[in-house]
This record gives sequence, C-alpha cells and structure tokens, in this order.
Amino acid sequence: MRKFDFYNPTKLIFGQGTLQALQTEVPKYGKNVLLMYGGGSIKRSGLYDNVLAELKAIGAVVTELAGVEPNPRLSTVHKGVELCREHNIELILAVGGGSVLDCAKAVAVGAKYEGDMWDFVERKAAPQGALPLGTVLTMAATGSEMNNGSVITNEVTKEKMGWGSVHAYPAFSILDPENTFSLPRDQTVYGMVDIMSHTLEHYFHTDGNTPVQDGFCETLLRTVIETAPKLIEDLNNYELRETIMYCGTMALNGMVSMGFAGDWATHNIEHAVSAVYDIPHGGGLAILFPQWMKYNLSTNPARFRQLAVNVFGIDPSGKTDEEAGLEGIEALRSFWDSIGAPKTLGDYDIDDSEIGSMADKAVRFGPFGNFRKLQREDVVEIYKMAL
Ligand code: NAP
Ligand code: FE
Repeated sequence: MRKFDFYNPTKLIFGQGTLQALQTEVPKYGKNVLLMYGGGSIKRSGLYDNVLAELKAIGAVVTELAGVEPNPRLSTVHKGVELCREHNIELILAVGGGSVLDCAKAVAVGAKYEGDMWDFVERKAAPQGALPLGTVLTMAATGSEMNNGSVITNEVTKEKMGWGSVHAYPAFSILDPENTFSLPRDQTVYGMVDIMSHTLEHYFHTDGNTPVQDGFCETLLRTVIETAPKLIEDLNNYELRETIMYCGTMALNGMVSMGFAGDWATHNIEHAVSAVYDIPHGGGLAILFPQWMKYNLSTNPARFRQLAVNVFGIDPSGKTDEEAGLEGIEALRSFWDSIGAPKTLGDYDIDDSEIGSMADKAVRFGPFGNFRKLQREDVVEIYKMAL
C-alpha cells in the first residue's frame, strides 16, 4: 500500500422513506434552496412533488434549475451559478442521477468563484470553497452522491473532463432505493456497467499488498453479476434495487480503494467518446473496458488471472496466467452481452472518422493510466479494437 489519508464528510441517509430527512437537513444550511434536476423523470415519477412538499413544510424558498442534461453541459453550470447569485442561494439540492449531481457540484464551486468554473476543469485554478450541496439520488451508477468528483462537458470545445475538489463532497445524500424503481432497463444496465467499471478501475493498480481491498472489489463485482440478471427482469424489486444502490455508492466513495491509485484510463478514453458523440457513459464503458483489458493483459497477467478466478470462477488449472486472464475478460464480455450492454462503437453508429480527435482529447493532459501509461497511439489502437 502507499501512504494515504482518508476523508469523506458526506452524510449518507439510506433506505425507504428517507426523503423526510430533508426536513431536518435543509434548515441546517438556510432557507434559499436551488433545486436542480434533469429532463423530467422526477416529474413523471412523482418524486418532484414529494421533494417540493418536504421543502414547503419547512418554509424553504425554492428556485429551480430544470433540464440538466445527461453528460451535463458547461452552459447549464453557468446558468446555475447566475441563479445562485441572483437568489442568494444557501443550499443546492440536486435530485437526479450522476449528471444532475455532477452539474450541481460544478455550480456549488462556481458560485464561490469570480472566474469561469471551467478553469477548475482545466486545472488553471483550484476551488477555494463551495455552497453546501444536498442530493437525492435517482440512479445507482456514478457514486457522485458520496464522492468529490464531477464530469462536465464543454459543448463549445467538445471536451468532457473530470475534476474534483475537497469542497465538492455533498454535505448529505438521501438514497431511497424506491426512487430508482422508475429507471428504465437500459439505464439500469448502464448504471451497473458504470459501477463494475469503477470497481475494475480500482482493481488494476500497481501498488501491491491490498488483499482486503481486492476482496472488497471482488465482492462488489460478484454481487453486481449475481443481482443484475434478476433486476433487469424485476425493476421494481426493492431488495435488488437496494443492493445495486449500495454497490454504486461503495464502488466510488473511497472506501474500497484506500492505499492505492487505480488505473482510470478507460474512464478517460470513454469521456473523449461521449464528448464527441454524447453517448451514455455506461454504454461507452461496456464497449471500451474489455478492449482496454485485452490491450493490457500482458502488462500483469497474474492480476487478470486473479480476476478471472475470484470473480468469474474460471478454473486456472493447466492454463498460463494469460490464458486464464483472457477467459476472465471474455466472461466479462459475455456477462455484459447477457444483460444487453452495447459491445462495439458501431452499436452507436460510431465509425473511425473521429478516432484521431478523440485520442487527442484523451491525452490532453499527457500520457495517462496508472496500471500502464497510455500514449496517444495506444488510445488509437484501443478505439480501433472497439469499432
Ligand atoms: P444520468 O446522465 O444522470 O441519467 C441518465 C438518464 O437516466 C437521464 O436521461 C435521466 O433522466 C434518467 N434517469 C435518472 N434517474 C431516473 C429515474 N429514477 N427514473 C427514470 N429515469 C431516470 O446518468 P448517470 O450514469 O448517473 O450519470 C452519468 C454522468 O456521470 C456522465 O456524465 C458520467 O461521465 C458522469 N460520471 C460521474 C462520476 C463521478 O464520480 N462524479 C463517475 C462516473 C461517471 P432525467 O434527466 O429526466 O432525470
Ligand atoms: Fe463512471
């Protein structure tokens, strides 16, 4: 393990009926609330009315920012920052999936900064503070509800990049699995792919001596693999939604990844694709992760063998590490096929025409990935394998 500090200040409020906690949490921060949400799913599910009822009960003054896009855009962040200033906002309440939460984090730090929030994404400046943020999660996927990361798309330059700050942790997050019942099957699958991908990004590290962390990650992966086929046939099953919601938070709140630095190359490679083609993040990961794995199998075959044996139950006897590892990668691909996750860039009608520009975007800050540093030509190769 490497030296580490662990810090995560987010108060997690988990379970059925927990929306009521808004009545105790919101007044801690003030009366003026900016309510942010997406394209309308919370209106259709009834959650919007329930949130407003809770806020009304405590006399909150609510300003709304609706229409946060999947792959949230910088122009929406700017709108949010303006609203915060105009209405003297004291708390931002994000109700939605990772996109709404990520956008709200960007608004929270942007509201405390004189310049353009994009400076933080470009590493030209670092946030010095933020408005407090509360969240009500409606989709298990990103872990954004309990981490300090956010991904924003600059629609003008067609760049999609992650940023993070100690000031970007939500103060509180309310997770009621029932609020994910209305999530359609395809988005449910994308979410589970994202959860598995976060876990795999952790798993492929080079720091050594992480037996407990490996076990945590393997348990998360096995749990999603066991739960996913049942959940996609039974979308209103509380216990299955609960399991996946808990997996989503645990996969990216820092708890299973103490003492090492995960790889994170595939997320970077995917962000460049969704920056250009605006595809769902989990869909992109389902296409790219198995290709990244094949490309890197020879980097540390023993690690791939461990994944194959401990997660996919591959029998390694008589096989080289590389052979067993490859069977594990194929088992992951078959599993994602079985739940209907996309397989090739062609599934989104993406051809080779933008591979060069996507690779340029991916190496914007130089070679990347901690398991193995990828150069531009490596990224081009992985895109070609995914066509
Ligand atoms: P999302 O983009 O927030 O939501 C995807 C779609 O699902 C939206 O159309 C949304 O509709 C709908 N939806 C969400 N909850 C629903 C519900 N309960 N019922 C019906 N529809 C629902 O998806 P996400 O995967 O959570 O977030 C993806 C973004 O997060 C990407 O930009 C990705 O790069 C980023 N990301 C962030 C982190 C992080 O750590 N912060 C990690 C990985 C990825 P509405 O808009 O109508 O609500
Ligand atoms: Fe992700």
